[in-house]
Amino acid sequence: MKIISINAGSSSLKFRLFEMKDESVIASGLFERIGMDGSNFTIEYGKEKINQEVDLPDHKVAVSILLDKLVSLNIISSLNEIQGIGHRLVHGKDKYRDSVLITEEVIKDLEDFKEFAPLHNPANVLGIRAFQEALPEVPMVGVFDTAFHQTMNKETFLYPVPYSWYEKYGVRKYGFHGTSHRYIANMAKELLGKDEFRLISCHIGNGASLSAIKDGLCVDTTMGFTPLSGVMMGTRSGDIDPSIIPYVMEKEGMNVGEVMDELNKKSGLFGLSEFSSDMRDIIARCDEQDEKSWVARKKYVRRIVDYIASYYVLLGGVDMIVFTAGVGENSVPIRREICEALACLGVKIDLDLNNQRGKVTKISTEDSKILVYVIPTDEELMIARDTLKLIG
Ligand code: AMP
Repeated sequence: MKIISINAGSSSLKFRLFEMKDESVIASGLFERIGMDGSNFTIEYGKEKINQEVDLPDHKVAVSILLDKLVSLNIISSLNEIQGIGHRLVHGKDKYRDSVLITEEVIKDLEDFKEFAPLHNPANVLGIRAFQEALPEVPMVGVFDTAFHQTMNKETFLYPVPYSWYEKYGVRKYGFHGTSHRYIANMAKELLGKDEFRLISCHIGNGASLSAIKDGLCVDTTMGFTPLSGVMMGTRSGDIDPSIIPYVMEKEGMNVGEVMDELNKKSGLFGLSEFSSDMRDIIARCDEQDEKSWVARKKYVRRIVDYIASYYVLLGGVDMIVFTAGVGENSVPIRREICEALACLGVKIDLDLNNQRGKVTKISTEDSKILVYVIPTDEELMIARDTLKLIG
């Protein structure tokens, strides 16, 4: 059975087509700059890769070209082969604790929740509508980024602010990257070979979040009401004192939207280094002894270590720490610096094993008190698995 995973952004659409018999990837690709000049698509299949510039006025055109290409490039023999479509959906508030078959009610909820994810939820709806028109008979499943975190208890998901903000406006911690953390939790369960375990999943990419996971369920996570909180990221600040916002507004003559833009797009690694949001660039600058890049790097590591320490206590000890996403999977020095700072918890890694990239690797030594793994995340596969499960 073939299932396609879709991740629709406001001007992009990523896809991956799976043969679910062996979970192999048949094709993958990206449609970019939808509704803009310079729109194009890339499709990879087997050893082939094509990239074409083409007019993509909207998501419907992108989907129709995608489906045409899958057949005309002989990736599938007919569209009937696609038996399920899984959509990555960003915000399901506290209504969606699991993946769901997409109905008109789900689409309406995505629209109703759009003030919680103003860029993502409307884009998700565009993706759903485009496939609904192109393949009306094929069942679709929605997999929410927020769903995995719905097992947090009330004292964890509430902020210490007037209770009425929660009751009236839904002000609470929602958490994001849930599909990735769930994938990591499933992998950890398999690797440990037991249902009862304490795990800290570190999804550190351009966006970054950590989750404390007990027996496969989320107990706490670092992102909150929005993806802005928690650890420091590529361009997001992570946690800050909220009083900074009105102070800077007054000093810089900015409105609240402008300050929030700086916190989302010009802070984090980029803000402190005044150079780049990409950890590879920061590390290269550190090698040249650039002081701001060193401060950015140390702060980045420190924030992650602080959260790991706090989750260690919350979970009453930890069996496994997992690094995943761009930095977590690839950055040998950042993993080493985080683990060195955790030595007092009994974490020890093997520097040779830590040199591995791109595959599941245990990097802790035999005498480490906590297992440390690198596990490449696979949100698309998780979406395809959920789709298969729900369409039966
Ligand atoms: P993601 O959001 O998961 O795609 O992660 C993207 C980020 O991963 C980039 O912005 C880089 O900061 C980081 N990254 C990717 N490869 C490396 C690498 N080899 N070393 C350090 N950081 C990396």
